[in-house]
Amino acid sequence: MEDLKGRQLVVPLQHLVAYPETLFESRESILLDKDFRCQRCGSTVDKKENALPRQVFFCSECQEFGKITSDCRLVYAKVSEEKHSFREVAFTWVGTLTETQSIIARQLQKNYQQKTSTLLWAVTGSGKTEMIFPTIHLALSQGGRVCVTSPRIDVCRELYPRVVEAFQAEQVLLLYGESTEKYRYTDLTICTTHQMLHFYQAFDLIIVDEIDAFPYEGNPVLQFALKNALKPSGQLIYLTATPPNQLLEEVKDSFAIEKSPLRFHQRPLIEPECLWYNHWGKAGDTSFYFKKFYRKVLELLKDNHVLVFCPSIAFMEKLTRRTQKQFALGGVESVSSMDEVRAEKVQKMREQAYQVLFSTTILERGVTFENISVIVIGANHPVYTKSALVQIAGRVDRKGAFRRGRVIFFHNQKTRDIRQACREIKSMNQLAKAWLDE
Ligand SMILES: [Zn+2]
Repeated sequence: MEDLKGRQLVVPLQHLVAYPETLFESRESILLDKDFRCQRCGSTVDKKENALPRQVFFCSECQEFGKITSDCRLVYAKVSEEKHSFREVAFTWVGTLTETQSIIARQLQKNYQQKTSTLLWAVTGSGKTEMIFPTIHLALSQGGRVCVTSPRIDVCRELYPRVVEAFQAEQVLLLYGESTEKYRYTDLTICTTHQMLHFYQAFDLIIVDEIDAFPYEGNPVLQFALKNALKPSGQLIYLTATPPNQLLEEVKDSFAIEKSPLRFHQRPLIEPECLWYNHWGKAGDTSFYFKKFYRKVLELLKDNHVLVFCPSIAFMEKLTRRTQKQFALGGVESVSSMDEVRAEKVQKMREQAYQVLFSTTILERGVTFENISVIVIGANHPVYTKSALVQIAGRVDRKGAFRRGRVIFFHNQKTRDIRQACREIKSMNQLAKAWLDE
């Protein structure tokens, strides 16, 4: 029973007897009024397309989370109405916050106390995760239930060990689509935004890291599920380095917006070098077109390892093979969303096992590698939105001593996104300077 607090199950009517009303609540799965709306994902159910015999309807939008039909109910365990009990929560994080981080961290706590949700607009490498720890601690200490979520699995995997380290005495559950760990009730949960569909009014605090990332951004199902998973009295904290205008518009009246332009180490963001590369698209085809890329890789390798972003898997594979031929001793790899050993490769890059790692946009955010420079080959390709470019540039010089990390945008057309990304990085650097000069 305890395990089902805030968890929602799809239960066929004939099985409802197993969930007594004294312990469980339930609600309609699909509203059969004029709206015909699925209560798990918020999508409209098509009366013709989604009809089964005997006036039963199903939702096709969220069926990957388990079949849902109108002759089922969404069942969840009652959460006690009584006030939360305060408890002792060990905060075992050993780091310290910089002065700027402390200011933001205190502000986040204050907003939470005052029941105000917050959008934290913090530049890449500002140590967003550390800044949310005190608010997590506060919420847990007040007997609250906390979820840290992100649209990206990689981000969740990266967050997990850091949160566990900061709250060593807590049970922390990591949930995502392919995770093998069985669901159980915990006060602290880390999961992908997809997992929100399995919760109902469960959390007092939901922190969404990389709120602007695919697939959450522009996805009404995930946005609906997130709001459903929050208790009516709960608060949200959105974290992003690159908030889309639409999001800023959406939260401007209801959220506090905090800006943090300073990186953890207080050095400015690395401003991209935009370099013309006429035939970058053929760089993997012949040594003639490859030369320019290869020369730059060798130049960057003198100071750092190199992470190369490619706009497509096919292009990346060709370029990887050609590069591997040049490195007799190995140390050149590639990784994409199709890669089964992707997590292992990311870990190896963290351990600095590769000299050059090729990647699609999957590594554009959420990961920290030390001592790297970055090349975006084909920065004018449409997959590289302004946000993606700002995020990618933000991979460089995140921690450790300054190692002359560089950001190269190879392009054969200076798109609006390239220009906006460069402008945004510059303007955050100016704001940071103003903070430091204060
Ligand atoms: Zn649905």
